[in-house]
Amino acid sequence: MYTPFQDHLKNQLNEITEAGLYKNERIIITPQGAEIELNTGQKVLNFCANNYLGLSNNPNLIEAAKAALDDYGYGMSSVRFICGTTDLHKKLEGRIAEFFGTEDTLLYAACFDANGGVFEPLLTSEDAVISDALNHASIIDGVRLCKAQRYRYENSDMEDLETQLQLAQEQRFRLIVTDGVFSMDGNVAPLDKIVELADKYNAMVMVDESHSAGVVGDTGRGVTELYNLKGKVEIITGTLGKAFGGAIGGFTTGKKEIIELLRQRSRPYLFSNSIPPLVAAAGIRMVDMMTETNELQDKLHQNSGYFINKMTQLGFDIKPTKSAICAVMLYDAKLSQKFAARLLKEGIYVTGFYYPVVPKNQARIRVQLSAAHQIEHLDQAVSAFEKTGKELKVIK
Ligand SMILES: *Cc1c(COP(=O)(O)O)cnc(C)c1O
Repeated sequence: MYTPFQDHLKNQLNEITEAGLYKNERIIITPQGAEIELNTGQKVLNFCANNYLGLSNNPNLIEAAKAALDDYGYGMSSVRFICGTTDLHKKLEGRIAEFFGTEDTLLYAACFDANGGVFEPLLTSEDAVISDALNHASIIDGVRLCKAQRYRYENSDMEDLETQLQLAQEQRFRLIVTDGVFSMDGNVAPLDKIVELADKYNAMVMVDESHSAGVVGDTGRGVTELYNLKGKVEIITGTLGKAFGGAIGGFTTGKKEIIELLRQRSRPYLFSNSIPPLVAAAGIRMVDMMTETNELQDKLHQNSGYFINKMTQLGFDIKPTKSAICAVMLYDAKLSQKFAARLLKEGIYVTGFYYPVVPKNQARIRVQLSAAHQIEHLDQAVSAFEKTGKELKVIK
C-alpha cells in the first residue's frame, strides 16, 4: 500500500522543490537572542525572531522557571480540568487579565489552539464571523471548525467591513475578528474604526494580539492600548511564544462569561495537555517585569524607530508600520532570496518572503526588531543592507 502513496508524496516534494518553495531549517546551537550561532559555525545577528522584548533568554525568566522546576516538577500529565491546573496556572490567568484590562483568561498550549477553540463553542449557524482576509492561519482554521456564516473583508478595509456587516445583519450575533498586527507588513489593524463599526452594526470584536502584545502601545498592552480601547473588545487571544518569553503557550482573555463557557466547551482546552508549571511561572515573572518597568518596551520602540529611520534615509521602500516588523520591499521573488542570502553572508539573518506567502510581485525582506538588539547590531544591519542594496541596485 505504501509504495504508490510514497510516489505521490515524492512527486509533491519535487514540485515544492522545483517551485523554489522548499523550506529548510537553519540549526541554531546557542540560546535564542540577538547574536546566535548556527551549526555551520557561522555567528549571525538575528533579525527574524519574534523575540520582541528579548525575553527568550532572560535571566529573570530562567530563574523563575528553574525555581518552578524544583517546586512543581517537570510536567502535568493531564489536561487542565482533570488534574492539570496548578496555582501557577491560575495566577498567570489572573495576571494576563490584569495586563489587558479584561475580566478573565483561559490558558492553552498555544495560540493556535486558543484560536482553534474559540469560535465553535460560542457561535452557531445562526451567527456570523466577519474576518480580515489576512488573518492568521489559526483564525482561518478556527472559523472553519464552527458553523457560523462566514464573511471576509479585505485587509483593514473599513468600507468592505461595513459592506460585510450590512450583509450579516440577518444573523443573530456578529463577531468581527482581526489580527492586531499583520505579520507580513507590520501594519496595525484600525481597531478604533472597527469598534465604531461594531457599535453601529451591533457586532462584537475579537483581536489576536500575538504580534502586538508586548510591542504595540506605550506600555506594550497591544492595539487596545494604542487606540485607548482597553477592556472594550469582547475577546483577545495571544501567545506566550513571541514577545512574552518565547517558549510556548497561548491564551484567550476577555468577558468572563465567554471565558467561562470556553472552559466548559473549548476542545483544545478540554482535550490537550496543560502548559508545564515552569512556563506558567516564567509567564508570571514576565507580566511582573512588564508591570514594574517599561524599560524593554521603551528600548524596543527606540530600536524600531532608529532602524526604520535609517533604512528610509538610505532610500529603501519600507511598508508603513507601527509594530516591530519592518518590511523592506523588493517586489521581485528571486531578488528577495538573493538579497537575504547576501545578508546572511554579511552575518545578518533575515527572511525573504514571496508569493504565495505574500501577494504576487510583493516580495520583501522582513526585519524584526527586538529589545535585545544593541545600537551596534542595528548599525551593522543597516550597513549590510546599504552595501547589498547598492550591489543589487535596489538603492543608489
Ligand atoms: C504566531 C501566531 C499565532 C500562533 O501562536 P502560537 O502560540 O505559536 O501557536 C496565532 N496568531 C497569530 C496572529 C500569530 O502571529
